[in-house]
Amino acid sequence: MFRARSPWVYFINTGSCNGCDIEVLAIQSPRYNAERFGVLRVASPRHADVLVVTGPVTKRMTDRLTMIYDQIPHPKAVVAVGSCPTSNGIFDGGYSLTGPLDTVIPVDVYVMGCPPRPLNIVSGILKAAKMLDSKRKGKGGRSTERFDEAMAKETDVELKFQSSDSVPEAEK
Ligand code: SF4
Repeated sequence: MFRARSPWVYFINTGSCNGCDIEVLAIQSPRYNAERFGVLRVASPRHADVLVVTGPVTKRMTDRLTMIYDQIPHPKAVVAVGSCPTSNGIFDGGYSLTGPLDTVIPVDVYVMGCPPRPLNIVSGILKAAKMLDSKRKGKGGRSTERFDEAMAKETDVELKFQSSDSVPEAEK
């Protein structure tokens, strides 16, 4: 059962420095509140529609990643969060890597940044969720579109976040 309007998301860290994971956690905070778009984090890949991956893919994580990918029911979409899953980032050339991510599993949306901002991660997940419908209809839907801040502004899903101007002084 796919959920284009309420994607259930499974997160995996395949070797990240944890910088991206902190930003992924932030999308669940009251400030970014991804749940208002129906984005729900699940504990099992068997319940997920969207796989969110942080970090370059290490040799140790390669088999686990493919196993988890295979456990997600069709249609499914993959979001690469950060420079590391996209290009190995600062770890490129490391002896322990098999990444980048798209050499191991297909990637639908790339969210660039080191680390990317939570707003862009939410946009990437929503973009992936939209692809689920076209995938279900057999239209492919795979995209190599890269989400940077400018593209996040162009997404047709209206994302209203607090501007830094409206953050109380005590929180700055
Ligand atoms: S993209 Fe940057 S913040 Fe994210 S895992 Fe790689 S090094 Fe860390």
